[in-house]
Amino acid sequence: MVVTSDMDSVRQSALDHLWMHNSDWITMAEEGGPSIMVSGDGVRVTDSEGKVWIDAHGGYASVNAGYGQTGIADAMLEQMKKLTYFPQGTTTVPLIRLVEKLGELAPANLERVWPASGGSEANETAVKIARAYHKRRGDNGRYKVISRRGSYHGATGGVMWMGASAGLSDFEPAMPGMLYAPQPNFYRCEFDSSTPSECAERSAKAVEDLILLHSPDTVAALIGEPITSAGGVSVPSDEYWPMVREICDRYGVLLIADEVVTGFGRTGRMFAMEHYGVVPDIMTIAKGITSSYLPLAATISATYVADAFAGEDNVFRQALTFGGHPVTAAVALKNIEIIEQNDLVGNSERMGAYFLERLEELKGRHPSVGDVRGVGLLLGLELVRDRETKAPFDDSLQVSKRLTDKMSERGVIMRFSGDKVTIGPPLCITKDDIDEIVSAMDSAIGEME
Ligand code: PLP
Repeated sequence: MVVTSDMDSVRQSALDHLWMHNSDWITMAEEGGPSIMVSGDGVRVTDSEGKVWIDAHGGYASVNAGYGQTGIADAMLEQMKKLTYFPQGTTTVPLIRLVEKLGELAPANLERVWPASGGSEANETAVKIARAYHKRRGDNGRYKVISRRGSYHGATGGVMWMGASAGLSDFEPAMPGMLYAPQPNFYRCEFDSSTPSECAERSAKAVEDLILLHSPDTVAALIGEPITSAGGVSVPSDEYWPMVREICDRYGVLLIADEVVTGFGRTGRMFAMEHYGVVPDIMTIAKGITSSYLPLAATISATYVADAFAGEDNVFRQALTFGGHPVTAAVALKNIEIIEQNDLVGNSERMGAYFLERLEELKGRHPSVGDVRGVGLLLGLELVRDRETKAPFDDSLQVSKRLTDKMSERGVIMRFSGDKVTIGPPLCITKDDIDEIVSAMDSAIGEME
């Protein structure tokens, strides 16, 4: 049994028993064991040694309302005392209230909510709905799914193949029917383009070429984050999503917007597709829906998609034990109320603009800062060995480790991944907090150069 008053023994138990995500226990032991966080408030968390950290990472950009919102804890307790759980088949009041609220917030026509526990599940569900939707309509050959290179849509069996991230070879063979389109990131555009618009248009056209190459009647859906959070963030210029929407319509391909990171104010809008004026056929949400106070996610389908599953012979056959858990639903409702009452979506827009400006200053001061980009409080930075040629560092993993460590020394949680970083702090962040983060980055990057 863990003796909680003795942090050395807690740390030892972590080394002995915990299979920490994306880590191994031998390296962890060499580095003195994991940091153990014990409390949080706003944008700050405190570890077991009493050190206070500012969280620029925001729990993979998920703690939108910030830490220490006791109102959410109260809502959770209140629901737990009434009814802790009941499986779907029947339903519960908090879940009904939540889907009603989501229907109100989501773009018009996205009204049918399939609840799950995490972003991976929500995306798996979206793909299953898309494939089954075509079958229900007698379009039996459509199973292929287009994702964009450099994206991330989750870690489970099917969705891990979307985006073609590195490090998947252990798990081969890949899921059949995966097609990959270019990421419309102007800084690293796959096409020789002189403006962001040209990159966006050529990347969208590549989606059409891919559909035609594989024959439209084999393609079920395209999945993409409106603004890609992985790989130091990628913001397509305005032309991209309207063009992709139009291409999907032309060839009968469903458009799935993965708003797992971008939803609930992260980019200065409630949902990031609003920046582009595009309505997807299916939208997935997680993270910010509860600000990670409890695990909850959902797949929201347009009425015309969902209607293919109405009627006795048409039911969408999939159930998850925890999908639509009433306590998580009560937490989500309270969390959304806090986001709305404190105008955290507006704060994300305002603070995001200020943060971006400050990051641009870093670019002016440090030759290794190749690019900064982002919208709202979803921001990214890419480091390069040579700014002229955009040549990457020879050992980007080493760069990433050194910078992550240097930021830790300065009490800032910021996880570099290779030579890129995605920044996604709680949306309640202030200018002073941003100044503190940027000044730590300034000196950390300076030391590294
Ligand atoms: N989609 C995006 C864009 C993500 O960033 C993530 C996780 O970071 C997921 C889906 C998967 O979500 P989860 O980790 O909750 O399964």
